[in-house]
Order: sequence, then C-alpha cells, then structure tokens
Amino acid sequence: MLRLSPFPRLLYRVLPVIAFIFVMLQPPATRAWGNEGHRLINRLAAITLPAEVPAFLRSEAAINEIEYLGPEPDRWRNHAEEELAAAQAPEHFIDLEPADALGPLPRNRLDFEAKVFAAGQRPEKIGLQPWETTEVWERLKAALREYRNLSAAKQDTRSVEAVALFYAGWLGHYVGDGSQPLHTTDKYNGWLGPNPNGYTTEHQIHWQFEGPFVAANEHEPEVRARMTAPKAIDGDIFDSYVAYLRNSATYVEKVYQLEKAGGFVGAGSAESRDFTADRLAAGASMLRDMIYTAWIESGKPVTDPFGGK
Ligand SMILES: [Zn+2]
Repeated sequence: MLRLSPFPRLLYRVLPVIAFIFVMLQPPATRAWGNEGHRLINRLAAITLPAEVPAFLRSEAAINEIEYLGPEPDRWRNHAEEELAAAQAPEHFIDLEPADALGPLPRNRLDFEAKVFAAGQRPEKIGLQPWETTEVWERLKAALREYRNLSAAKQDTRSVEAVALFYAGWLGHYVGDGSQPLHTTDKYNGWLGPNPNGYTTEHQIHWQFEGPFVAANEHEPEVRARMTAPKAIDGDIFDSYVAYLRNSATYVEKVYQLEKAGGFVGAGSAESRDFTADRLAAGASMLRDMIYTAWIESGKPVTDPFGGK
C-alpha cells in the first residue's frame, strides 16, 4: 500500500486549491470590455435612444434588460456548451489584416467563409464580427417591423416587444466588441511582426486593458459625456459597420503605446482613462444609432415578405 509522508499528503490536499486559484486568475480569453464595459455600453445606448424610438425600448425595465444582455454572448463561452462555445467564438472579433489579404469583404457570411476555406484557411481564426453584427441588426429590424404591423392591427405587442428587446441587447455585445481596437487585429493579445518600438509581446494586454482597468476606472457620466449626438445611419449598414471597425483598428497601436507607458496598471494615466472612455463612448454611440436606424428602416415597405426561397 502506498503510504504518503505528511508533506506530500498536504500537497495532495492543497494542489486542487492552488490549481483552482490559478485557473481563476487567468484572464478570460478575448471577452472584450469584460462584464462592466459591456453593461456600460448597452446601458448608455439604451438611455440615450431618441424619443422617436418606441417607449418599450426606453422604459426603465427595457434599459435594465438591455444592460443585462451586454455580456450575454460571453455567457456562451462555457465548455458545458461546447458546440455553441466553438461556433460563436469567432463572432466576437475580426482580424482585419488576414481578412483584407483575401480581398474585399463579401457582405454575406457564407461567401466570406467560402473564400477563407478556398484560401486554405479557417474562418474561426480570422473572425466573423461584421457578419454576426449585421445579421443580429437585421433580426432587430425584422422584429420592429412585426411590432409596427401588430400595432397597426391593434393587436397585442407584448411578445414581439420581448423579442426586439433581446435582439437590441444581444446586438450591443458585438457593437461593443467592435469599439475595442484589439478585436479588429491579429495583434489582439501581444504585438506581432517587426517591433522597433518594443511593444509588449506578452499575452496580457487584451484583458488588462478591457477588463480590470475598465472596471476600476471607467464610469457612466464620463463615458456619456463623450458620446456623439444621435443620428440615423445613412446608406448600407454592412458598409457603415465595417467603416466603424476600421476606425477602431486605427487605434491598435495607441493601445500598445499606452500599455508600454503603464497606462493600464492601477488607475493608469489621464490619457489612458480618456482614451478608454472614448472607445466605450464610440461603442455606445454606434449601438444607439444602430437601434435607432433599425427602427426607421423597419418602417419601410417590404414588397414581398416571403421573397427568396
Ligand atoms: Zn465579445
């Protein structure tokens, strides 16, 4: 019979505890904005919706629901739901460098995936952010059209209101992710390639920036003050959304510069706090404008509601 001396016996007892602590200390992989940042973006978008948007999307209960849904897709990363976790993970980001290397981004998800497979690559390595966001926005628009129809027919709208509310909150997660520059690049968690400025190559920057730093330093009034005035988005939603992602991508190097200067440790610096508040505000402004635009677009006549196949 194997006998353990007191020391290894103690070790056997504490090892699971140490392993548990180690796992808990690991940064969640590419969550974008963590819980606090996502809730803040969704809440700010909801409380600043123009009065033209139906009241059911602007009530206190609606604001709380939309806020709750900010981190919702991050609740689908659990290995208890393995297939869902794998399929939805690439919807949180796009690495624009390898995506652009394949040519113009097709507006249809399956066309992009076909292109990636044809190049001998995998979509889950490059990301599906703009397609997922556009599709959820279209779900919201379809629900709001149904709300208009039921309202016009003087029918009960409570069920469709619940659906539209869910889509608006769900949409917020991806729009929020899109304002985080590190969700638009293959340098998402450590610098890649030539590095004359000596930016960090450690796999820490992503969560350090969007998680604990945001939770400790970013608050509703400061972020709200940086939001733009509400406006409907003109033209094509996919193109507008990709332009928004490309704008975020222009700040990738800035994140690395701030990190190098210690900007995401503790309270950071005035510059790093302002920069982060601007990014959160960009996400909240875009989400609010996308919900507003979905409402306006849902009022346009649809010639054949069962068109296509
Ligand atoms: Zn995400």
